Amino acid sequence: MFKQASWNEPVIFTMGKNGRSGHILPKIEEEIRSVVNLDSYVPKHMRRVKQPALPGLSEVEVVRHFIRLSEMNYGVDSGLYPLGSCTMKYNPKINDMLASLPTISMVHPYQDESTVQGILEILYELERWLAEITGTYEVCLHPAAGAHGEFLGTLLMLTYHKMNGESEKRREVIVPDSAHGTNPASAAMAGFDVVVVPSNDDGCVDLEALESAVSEKTAGLMLTNPNTLGIFEKNIGEIAKIVHKIGGLLYYDGANLNPILGKARPGDMGFDIVHINIHKTFSTPHGGGGPGAGPVGVCKELAKFLPVPRTVFDGTRYSLDYDRPHSIGKIRSFYGNVAVLLRAYAYIRSLGFEGLKEVAEVSVLNANYLMKKLAGIKGLTLPYNTKKPRKHECVFSAKPLKNETGVSALNIAKRLLDYGIHAPTIYFPLIVEEALMIEPTESFEKGELDRFAETMHKICKEAYTNPETVLKAPHNTAVSRLDEVKASHPRTMVLSWRMHLKKNKQNL
Ligand SMILES: *Cc1c(COP(=O)(O)O)cnc(C)c1O
Repeated sequence: MFKQASWNEPVIFTMGKNGRSGHILPKIEEEIRSVVNLDSYVPKHMRRVKQPALPGLSEVEVVRHFIRLSEMNYGVDSGLYPLGSCTMKYNPKINDMLASLPTISMVHPYQDESTVQGILEILYELERWLAEITGTYEVCLHPAAGAHGEFLGTLLMLTYHKMNGESEKRREVIVPDSAHGTNPASAAMAGFDVVVVPSNDDGCVDLEALESAVSEKTAGLMLTNPNTLGIFEKNIGEIAKIVHKIGGLLYYDGANLNPILGKARPGDMGFDIVHINIHKTFSTPHGGGGPGAGPVGVCKELAKFLPVPRTVFDGTRYSLDYDRPHSIGKIRSFYGNVAVLLRAYAYIRSLGFEGLKEVAEVSVLNANYLMKKLAGIKGLTLPYNTKKPRKHECVFSAKPLKNETGVSALNIAKRLLDYGIHAPTIYFPLIVEEALMIEPTESFEKGELDRFAETMHKICKEAYTNPETVLKAPHNTAVSRLDEVKASHPRTMVLSWRMHLKKNKQNL
């Protein structure tokens, strides 16, 4: 049984003494002052009058404080992390190391192009590789997340229809009900009306419903594939035909590209716009909101609309091209999250084509092995076609367990924490009641998959024999059940020391 460290750690601002300091640095301010006139650099109204109220702590105190806090946390380096969809896939540590090399991490976006030829070459090559992997014509690396890529994609749709004089007419974007939640949000943000089409018993897009949803008002369709049930849309060719026939564009949400890497390409399936999540599929650890990268690949016809600058190569040198009259402009400062993109470059280079294919094979094998191992558990069902293999993830329903014992998907997720396993995504996708969305990724080995399945067995058995234990879980973690309603209510959240002081009417 797992037992998480539990320190009664105070907030760092309440520790230490004023005037104490953990560092010894030369007094450089006077040196700088002797060379430049600082007063002319920083306008008077922007100068800090008071010293910042930093706690006075020694180096050791600071290190121990943060180590203790980290011991009360759980991450992908601690153990099993079978999240579902937004999962961190395989993240080799060497890629973090490469991205932090000073020759790479210390370059500045304002440096002259002639001094950053290396990084431009990397970005240029990465664009070519991602175009090859996705089967698209050109790729833009700028978007900082998957949802940001979707937003760019839907803006490209808008621009395309505007160019054809049809943007007034084509107001609707079609999104299947098995799509990731960001798809309808992005379409709405770009100003489109969202039309939802249902799934059939196979967990795929209902073609008849799609036929009746498309019209001359359709701007395009956004397809998450594999969808959030982990199922590959088997009628993709047919879907593409239906949407293209009425003049709509096809958008592929490839956030989870790992199950098809080197096996199939969205471009070949007829998609005009594709986004991928570097921070899921191409080796960047993420969590707590970033940093990420959501490159977007497009077909030839849409390439001229991509954001500036484009990285170009004339045979001898790399440069940044802003002279693109049809470009939609900029969607992010500079050239994207370069350190994240670098990891993708290193990942693709080190695995090679054969390695990428193996990622696809192992991720699919793991998800299906786990699905089979979980399929017989009393209390759980596998909604939608049980015979259909899944891709990177599988979605179970704990509805029977809830009806029979009162133990819900949430309670199972909490109880998993007691066994040192991160909770899977729950209550998503919305089309499955009491959903448990599980993605083992290509990083699990067989022993771990078996341990996860055994633990799920144990918990569901406990639900019948000793439901109280599961209902009150977790018992072995640093923090027990949180008040989830309170935790997501913006008015009660105290996220910083400044907010804490403000709430208590104290000054910083
Ligand atoms: C994670 C995910 C997204 C959103 O990506 P973010 O980087 O979190 O914005 C979109 N679609 C799918 C299928 C995803 O799994």
